Amino acid sequence: MRPIALVSSRCRECGTPLYARAFRSWNDDGTITARFTSDIRLCQIETGTVAAIIDGLSDRIGYPVDLIAIKGQRKAMRKITEDFFALGYGALGFVSRKGPISHLIAKLTLGVAWTVGHALPEELEYVPGLTFQVKMRKPYSWQLMVGDVWGGFEALHNVTAEARYTVEGESLLILIEKVGEGMVWDEPSRLQLRRMARVPRSAVYERCARCGIPLEVPRDTEWDAENGMVFNRITGRREATIMVEPLTAMLGELEAELGDDTPLVVQEIVAEHTARSIPPRAAAVMRSEGYRSALDYLRVSGMGNPVSVEMREKTMSVRIDNPFSTLVIAGMVGGTYGALEGVEPKTWWVADPRGYMIVEVCPA
Ligand SMILES: [Zn+2]
Repeated sequence: MRPIALVSSRCRECGTPLYARAFRSWNDDGTITARFTSDIRLCQIETGTVAAIIDGLSDRIGYPVDLIAIKGQRKAMRKITEDFFALGYGALGFVSRKGPISHLIAKLTLGVAWTVGHALPEELEYVPGLTFQVKMRKPYSWQLMVGDVWGGFEALHNVTAEARYTVEGESLLILIEKVGEGMVWDEPSRLQLRRMARVPRSAVYERCARCGIPLEVPRDTEWDAENGMVFNRITGRREATIMVEPLTAMLGELEAELGDDTPLVVQEIVAEHTARSIPPRAAAVMRSEGYRSALDYLRVSGMGNPVSVEMREKTMSVRIDNPFSTLVIAGMVGGTYGALEGVEPKTWWVADPRGYMIVEVCPA
C-alpha cells in the first residue's frame, strides 16, 4: 500500500520528498491547489486547530458534536469526489467504479492521505462497492478521517453506506458497509461549496530552481513518512494537508445544526487555541520581528496571504488576500495579537467579494 518509491525520492536540490509536491501546486496567489485539478484548494493546517474546534464546541455546548463533524465531512467528501468525476473525469469515474480499478484508487487515496500527514493506514478488507475496513494509526483528526473514508467510499462506488468506528489508543478502526444503491442526500442545499474570487499574483515565492517548491516549505517542514505525520520545524507541532472545502462545509454543517452563533464561537475557540500555542518567549521574539512576519506562515500554508498590517493606537488592521476560511483566519489573527500583546483580543472582520478580507483586532 505504501508508495515507497515516492517516499524515498527527494529533490536533489532542496530535499523535499517527491510526494510532498506530487499532488499539489503552490500558486503565486498564496493558495495551494491539487495538481490534477486546480478547482480543489488545499491548505496545511496545524492538526490541534481542528481538534480544538471540534472538542471546544462539544465542551461549550455540553454534548459531543463529533457526529455532526463526521457527517459534514462525509457529505463534503462525497460532493468533492463527485465533482472530480464530473469535471471531465467522467470516463475515469465510470471505469473506477468497477472492481480492481476502484481498489487501486482506494489504495492510491490512502497512500496520498498517508503522505500528507493524515495517518498511517492499514487496509484490512476491501470488497469493491460493498465493504471497506481500514485501520488508521495516529489519525490527524479521527472525526474527519471517518468522514473522509466514508464519503470517499460512497462516492467512488455510488452507494450509500453505514460506518462503524472505534478509537483505541492511537488507532482508529473504520468499517464501511454498503446499505443501498446510489447516494441518498439529506439537506443537499447546505453543501453549496462557497468559492470566493481570488486576488491574482498576490504572493510571489522564492522557489527551488530544480523542483519549483517555495523554499520555505522544506525549510519549515519535517516529514515523518514512516508514521504518516508531518511537523512544522518552527513550532514543533503536527500539521496535515487538508482540502479546504470539506473543512468549510463541515463548519457550515455545525452552524446549521447548532445555530447562528457558531461561527463566532469557532472564531473564539481558534483564537484561544492560537494564543495558547505561542509560548511567552516565542511571543516576545515574534513581537520584535513584527506582525507581518508573525502571520507569514499563513501564506506558505495556503491559508491566505497577509499583504499588509497597520497599527493605529492599539488597533491592528490586517489585509489577507485569498483567505481559506474567513472565520478561522480571524481567529488565528486575533489569537496571535492576544498572545503577542498579552491581552484578551476583540476581533472583527469584513470579506470583500474581490477575494480578500480585512481583520481588525484590539484589546477587549
Ligand atoms: Zn527542490
